[in-house]
Amino acid sequence: MSTSTLFIDGSWQPAASGAEFETTDPATGQPHARCADAGPLDVDNAVAAARAALTDPAWAGLVPAERARMLWRVGDLIDEHAEELAQLETLDQGQPIGISRMVSVRAAAEHFRYYAGWVTKLYGETAPVSFPNVLQYTKREPVGVCALITPWNFPLMIASWKIAPALTCGNTVVVKPAEQTPMTTVRLVELCRRAGVPAGVVNLLTGGPEAGRALVEHPGVDKVSFTGSTETGRAIVQVSAGNLKRVSLELGGKAPSIVLPDADLDAAVAGCLQGSLLNSGQVCAAYTRFLVHRSLADEFAERCAKGAAQMRLGPGNAPETELGPLVTADHLAHVDALVRSGLQEGANLVTGGSPAADLPGYFYQPTVFSGVLDDMRIAREEIFGPVLAVMPYDEEDEAVARANDTEYGLAAAVWTRDVSAAHRVAGAVRAGTVFVNMPNPVDASAPWGGYGASGWGREMGSGAIELYTEVKSVWTSLG
Ligand code: ADP
Repeated sequence: MSTSTLFIDGSWQPAASGAEFETTDPATGQPHARCADAGPLDVDNAVAAARAALTDPAWAGLVPAERARMLWRVGDLIDEHAEELAQLETLDQGQPIGISRMVSVRAAAEHFRYYAGWVTKLYGETAPVSFPNVLQYTKREPVGVCALITPWNFPLMIASWKIAPALTCGNTVVVKPAEQTPMTTVRLVELCRRAGVPAGVVNLLTGGPEAGRALVEHPGVDKVSFTGSTETGRAIVQVSAGNLKRVSLELGGKAPSIVLPDADLDAAVAGCLQGSLLNSGQVCAAYTRFLVHRSLADEFAERCAKGAAQMRLGPGNAPETELGPLVTADHLAHVDALVRSGLQEGANLVTGGSPAADLPGYFYQPTVFSGVLDDMRIAREEIFGPVLAVMPYDEEDEAVARANDTEYGLAAAVWTRDVSAAHRVAGAVRAGTVFVNMPNPVDASAPWGGYGASGWGREMGSGAIELYTEVKSVWTSLG
């Protein structure tokens, strides 16, 4: 079994307490690595190292072109180690190897290169202030020490969504990956160091919720960037109030996918399956509520069920696998409890409905319900598993109102051949991202984040620059 340690101020070290935890392979349920379990003293040390590095000339003294090259090198190193990272992500997280390669690792490298480009383009502005003989301009400065807390569904990719723009803007970071899936973040931190990122600029704390909470509370942290559950997001907002940290949050979702009566049904079924079952539905933007015009609803449900039932479940490292395991036994139990609630509340089960008993590890059959009502738990709560709920509607306005009847607002989809209807619905749905006639990818250049209980702020594109900089306004009398 491999072991990994914390990385603080440029040195690999065990937790001060000596504590460790295990991470398991979800395809077998067997532990495969031991990691240092960070405690309060480690949190203090990591924050102190990040604070000292903020003003260390080795980091603060780099001119933008040098910082840009460093970030670009991280992207190149990810590419050089792509296969190893992909295998590790699949081992630790469970995702099919094709997803690890084509989504996780590729997006991680692209994020570093995309934000490398921004380093030399962080412009200020000059305002036409109405005072005679005064020059005003703005500068973008780093926010300071950033605590980056990541979830278990796309560990490498989401760590990159945060580390890359934070470094672009000159911050220093303490990254805490999810305790279920820390391994690719450990490797990424190593690659940052190899790319020349100075000691103390990127620190790593592996550990659980307590380590996350201690970071969020810490007065030496200036900003928290969190991706995870809405419940934990709420706790973070409360705990961060002490020194009024900057907080950005990408939280849960319950994405509606609205199929209008004129939709290309083949495309809608294929796109909805992809948009709902990627990484076994462990995606915050996964399509989960399928509002389908009544004229198509039965056929849509049946075709989705047929497609879902044909998908090959198996360990992520088997090339033929299309659906991997869920991440942990606890998560499998959560998904199953919600499926049971759907059955009890009277939803019609078209396919699936239970764990895949013939496989070791944490596999769940892809599951499709039809005739789902708005107040059922499977229509309201985030399942984060391979579970689709088909809900017929009659009028477009009704579909939009029902799509919006949720506390979440991360993503939504609309399927239609009518360009006016597409943009009408895209405008009316309350979600940070709307996909028209397509599944739900992300790209470093396109803003990503949610309305309502799906979070605060936008990552990617210029949005992340806003998150990781303070704007300073300088006024000068010209005499
Ligand atoms: P889940 O409930 O699906 O496991 P969470 O949103 O709780 O997801 O976890 C996402 C990340 O947040 C993980 O890195 C986890 O350790 C961390 N975390 C959990 N609770 C807290 C907390 N109270 N404060 C800060 N971080 C936390």
